[in-house]
Amino acid sequence: MSQPYDVAVVGAGPAGSTAAQIVASSNLRALVLDRRSIVGTPVQCGELIPTPSETRRLFPRSKMMPKAVNVPREFITNRTKSIRLISPNGSTFEFPFEANIVDRSRFDRQLAQNAVDAGAEVQLRSTVLKRPGKNELTVRTQNTTHKVTANAIIGADGPRSVVARSMGLRFIHSESDLSPALQYVMSGVDVDPSVVEMYFGEKIAPGGYAWVIPKGDGLANIGFGMRRSVGGDATPLRRYLERFVFVLLAQKIESAKIVRKTGAIIPMGGPLHETWFQNALLVGDAAGHVMASNGGGIPTALCGGRIAGESVVKYLTENESLSSYEQMWRAEFGQELETALRVLRVADVVMPSDVITDICMNLAGVRFLEPLIRCRLPLPVDLASKTFVKLLYQFM
Ligand SMILES: Cc1cc2nc3c(=O)[nH]c(=O)nc-3n(C[C@H](O)[C@H](O)[C@H](O)COP(=O)(O)OP(=O)(O)OC[C@H]3O[C@@H](n4cnc5c(N)ncnc54)[C@H](O)[C@@H]3O)c2cc1C
Repeated sequence: MSQPYDVAVVGAGPAGSTAAQIVASSNLRALVLDRRSIVGTPVQCGELIPTPSETRRLFPRSKMMPKAVNVPREFITNRTKSIRLISPNGSTFEFPFEANIVDRSRFDRQLAQNAVDAGAEVQLRSTVLKRPGKNELTVRTQNTTHKVTANAIIGADGPRSVVARSMGLRFIHSESDLSPALQYVMSGVDVDPSVVEMYFGEKIAPGGYAWVIPKGDGLANIGFGMRRSVGGDATPLRRYLERFVFVLLAQKIESAKIVRKTGAIIPMGGPLHETWFQNALLVGDAAGHVMASNGGGIPTALCGGRIAGESVVKYLTENESLSSYEQMWRAEFGQELETALRVLRVADVVMPSDVITDICMNLAGVRFLEPLIRCRLPLPVDLASKTFVKLLYQFM
C-alpha cells in the first residue's frame, strides 16, 4: 500500500478542487479523486454565478463569498443584469440581479489546475466505491481496484456522496428532496442576452422551475428541474423539457439547434443537520449546500470548499476538531440556506396548482418575489412561514 496522504478529497468539482488547493498550499499531501476522465466535462449546470456584489446582497453576513465567486474574466461568456419570473398564465415579474455566466468546463478545469499548482495530486477515472475504514477509500480505476489511505477525508462528491454514505444514515439526502434536472444547450436562440428567465407551472416543472440562461453569442442553457415527490404525473422528464422548449418557447427557438443535452441531480433539501464526523467532512452538494429556492450551489461550493480546506488544515496541524468547519460555514451562509429551504417548503404547498401559483405570484408582485429568490423572506411572510412550516412538520 502506498504512503498515506494527509487528505483525500473525493470529487474535483468547485468544492473539492478549492478545498484541495487550500490544503496543498499548507504543504500537506492532498489527493483528489474523480471518476470523470476530464474535470468539468460533461457540464451539468446552468453556469450562472452571481457577481461578487450580488452575493453581498444574497449572503450579507458572509465575509468570504464575494471573493470566492470572483470568477476570472476569461471564463465569463456573458453577464446578465436581471431575472424575469414567468407565472403559469404568462404574467412576468422582473428585478435586477447581476450574474456572470461562465464556461464551467474550463472554469472547473482551472480550479483543479490551481490545486495541482499548489501541490495536490489529481487522479481522474478514479471512482471511490466505498470507505471501508475511517482512513481508507476503495478506488476503482480503469483496470484495478486499490486502496487509498489518508488522515482526513473530504467528501465533495455530489448529492449521492459515497463519503456521506460511509458516515452514517443521517448524512444521506432524502430521496424526495433530490431534484432531477435536464438541460439543452441551444444555439441560435432569440433571447435578450441580459435577462435570465425562470418559468413556473405544474405542466412546466412541478416542484421546480424551468430556466433560460443566455450564454452569449445566441447560445442558451435551457433546462428544468422538478421533484416527483411534489407533483407531476409519470410523464418522462424528457417530455417535460421537450414541451417547454418546443411548445412554450417555440418563437424563441425557431432557428435554434440543440448543441448538447445534459442532466443531473440537484439536492433541494437544504443543508444536512451535520456535515462532519471524526476525520471526515462533507462540502458542496454532498453537504446540501444548495439554495433550495433557486437550485444554485456554485457560490456555496466555492466558499464552502475554502472553509473545508482551512478547517482540515487546522484539524491536521493544530489538532482542532472539525466541528469548527460546521460553525464556520453556518456563520458564512447557513442562515440563507435555511431560509431558502423555508421558501421552498411554502412553495411546495402552493406550486402544484397553476391557479394558486398565479394568484400568489400576482398578489406578491416583484416586491415580495424578489427576496424569495434571494433566500430572504419579507418580514410578515417570514413570521407566517415559520409558523406554517412548524405546523407542516407536525402533520408530516
Ligand atoms: C442541470 C443543473 C443546472 C445547474 N445550474 C446551476 C447554476 O446555474 N448555478 C449554480 O450556482 N448552480 C447550478 N447547479 C448546481 C451546481 O452545479 C452544483 O451545486 C455545484 O456543481 C456543486 O459543486 P460540487 O463541487 O459540490 O459538486 P460537483 O460539481 O457535482 O462535483 C462533484 C464531483 O464529484 C465526482 N464524483 C461523484 N461521485 C464520485 C465518486 N464516487 N468517486 C469519484 N468521484 C466522484 C463527480 O464526477 C464530480 O466531478 C446546477 C445543477 C444542475 C444539475
